[in-house]
This record gives sequence, C-alpha cells and structure tokens, in this order.
Amino acid sequence: MANTETPKGFGLAIDFGAVAPAPVPAVATTTSTAPTEAKLLILGSGPAGLTAAIYAARAGLAPIVIGGYAPGGQLMLTSEVENFPGFPDGIDGPELMAKMRAQAERFGSIMVDQDVDRVDLSAQPHRVWSAGREFRAEAIIVATGASALWLGLESETRLRGRGVSACATCDGFFFKGQEVVVVGGGDTALEEALFLTRFATKVHLVHRRETFRASKIMISRVEAHPLIQLHMNREVIEVLGEKSTEAVMLRDTTPGATGAPERLATGGLFVAIGHKPNTALLGGALPVDAAGYLQLESDTTASQIDGVFIAGDVHDHRYRQAVTAAGDGCRAALDAERWLAERDASGS
Ligand code: NAP
Repeated sequence: MANTETPKGFGLAIDFGAVAPAPVPAVATTTSTAPTEAKLLILGSGPAGLTAAIYAARAGLAPIVIGGYAPGGQLMLTSEVENFPGFPDGIDGPELMAKMRAQAERFGSIMVDQDVDRVDLSAQPHRVWSAGREFRAEAIIVATGASALWLGLESETRLRGRGVSACATCDGFFFKGQEVVVVGGGDTALEEALFLTRFATKVHLVHRRETFRASKIMISRVEAHPLIQLHMNREVIEVLGEKSTEAVMLRDTTPGATGAPERLATGGLFVAIGHKPNTALLGGALPVDAAGYLQLESDTTASQIDGVFIAGDVHDHRYRQAVTAAGDGCRAALDAERWLAERDASGS
C-alpha cells in the first residue's frame, strides 16, 4: 500500500466479472442460480479459500465457495502487494484477488457472494445456511480468515490505504525515510514497531496504558531500540490529512489528565490492536484456542470433525500472510480430496 495511492475496494462493489476471461468450463456462477449441493463447500474467499477452490476444482470437485457479501478477504484493503511471488512489479490487492477468483472459476468453482449465517457439522452431509438457503456437502473447508481490529475513528476509516494500515509486513516498505506511528501494546504492535525500524526514520509506539501486554523479551527490544519512541498512556483520537495521512492527535489517558490533545506528525499509522478470527458463524462447532483461533487436529488441515478442514488466518495467528494462507488452502484442498476419495472407496 503506497500512502499516496487511492485505495480500492472500500465499500465498493467489485466487478470481478470484468477482470479476466473464464475459458473452461462454462459454469453458472451467479449467486442466485448457484447449486446448493456439492462434494465440497469452501467457506471464505481470501487467498486460502480461493487457492483451495483452484485445487479442488482442478480435481473435478466443482466446489461451491461461499465467500461473503464482501468477497476477497483482507487483501481487498491493501492497494499494493509486493511480496506475493510471481508479481515482480507488485500487484493491487483487489486485482490479485480478482485473478485468484478468475482462476478458481475457470476450472469450475461456483461462487456464492453471500455471508454464511450458521452451520450444522454434527452429521453427514454437513449443512450450511446462507441468505435463507441451505447448502450441503460431504466435506467443508473453513477459510473464513481473521479481521484486523480498528480503533473505530471516522478519520481512520477514511484514510485507510492512504497511510493508515493494519499490516506493517505488507505496507512498511512504503514508509521509507518517514516517521510512523504504531498503536497497541501487545506482541503484534511491538513486533510491527521493530519491523518498521527497517524503513522509518523514527517509530512512535502509542499505547493507552502504563504497561505493555506484550512478552518481556519484546518489551526489552523495543525499549532498547534507538529509533523507537514510546508514548505511554496515550491514545489516538483522530487521524489528520485529506488525501493522505499527515498527523495523529494524541490524548493523555492518565486518570485526571486535563491537557489538550497533542499533534504528532506522521506519514503512516499502523493499527496493531489485535485480530479477530472469523468464527462466529460456526456457533462453537469447532474448538478454539485461548485467542479464539480454530485448532487443527494434527499436522494436516483436519479439524476435530470428520470431513471438516481448516485453512488460513482463521487458525494461523503466527504468519498471517497471503502466501501462507494460499499454501494452507492448497493443503486443505488436497486433504479434502483424499478424504473424499477414501470415503468413496469405502462406500460410506
Ligand atoms: P493483544 O495481545 O490482544 O494486544 C492488543 C493490544 O492492543 C493491547 O495492548 C491492547 O491494550 C491494545 N488495544 C486493544 N484495543 C485497543 C483500542 N481500542 N485502542 C488502543 N489500544 C487497544 O493482541 P496481539 O498483539 O495481536 O496478540 C495476539 C496474540 O498473538 C497474543 O497472544 C500474542 O502474544 C500473540 N502474538 C505472538 C507473536 C509472537 O510470538 N511472535 C507475535 C504477535 C502476536 P491493553 O493492553 O490496554 O488491553
């Protein structure tokens, strides 16, 4: 994401149909005419879901992808991706997702651009409800991703993709030679602050309390770093700038503090206050860890439920990259394909 670029995909309908031809086979992929039964259902349309769809479709499974009313996942919020292999000049996040989608459709994946409302994974076939319709499949891949948490400021939303980001790994490079602000006090914020010192001339780490939530080792690294300046007991109450981020306003959160908000000039604001895995639609059907992420059953992508597989950021809070999610989608499709073949062979 270059902070001077116009963001794409914010609250806009993305016209995927105009992006790439879908030569073979001719499959009706519109939401209203989509079939409701398949061997495999894929929940989610980010890199994990669409890579799973490409593999499963090429294996002849004609998967149905229920990808949400705003399909494409977190890359729809990034304007330029420079670390996805195969694009030496970089590619816009929405364009990359449109290409993945076209590739999945080309081999017969069926796209349903609706949210999943609820699931029943207690018996075969597994059932999924979306916009009043019931979908059924023997195998399901859950690739619903995770959503970055935001501060909830109007100015933050307006300048997202124009200096405001939730991913230093994706966007840090664009802030070479500038001062940047990171908000948060957990491991993610401290990790992002350290990462950004590779590019920024100074990193201002803003945390709303007196003490960090992060691990001791990360705190010592941050405190010892000459390019990181700590702003404890401060919160960002506004992002300033018209076309791009120019500054943030900081409020003192110390109890009883009465001073006026301070202006801190910056080209970039990295919000690192946590992610929320998108699991609500599962209604507790699959176990989660202490942070709410789905848990894998083994070193494959299998879940605790037979025929249900998990891919991408909905279980991975360590790597959270488009390419790792895509790799996970591939693994889940191969696992599902094998599981279906064994089931067919055993006649169950
Ligand atoms: P986290 O541990 O939940 O920390 C979130 C931070 O954001 C907290 O410091 C919190 O402040 C702050 N915050 C939350 N809402 C805020 C708001 N509205 N305004 C301002 N600040 C706000 O999340 P995380 O850092 O993403 O870490 C998630 C999990 O992943 C943790 O278990 C972490 O250890 C793990 N992780 C591990 C690694 C690693 O091992 N390399 C790297 C990254 C993350 P308060 O402290 O005041 O609540």
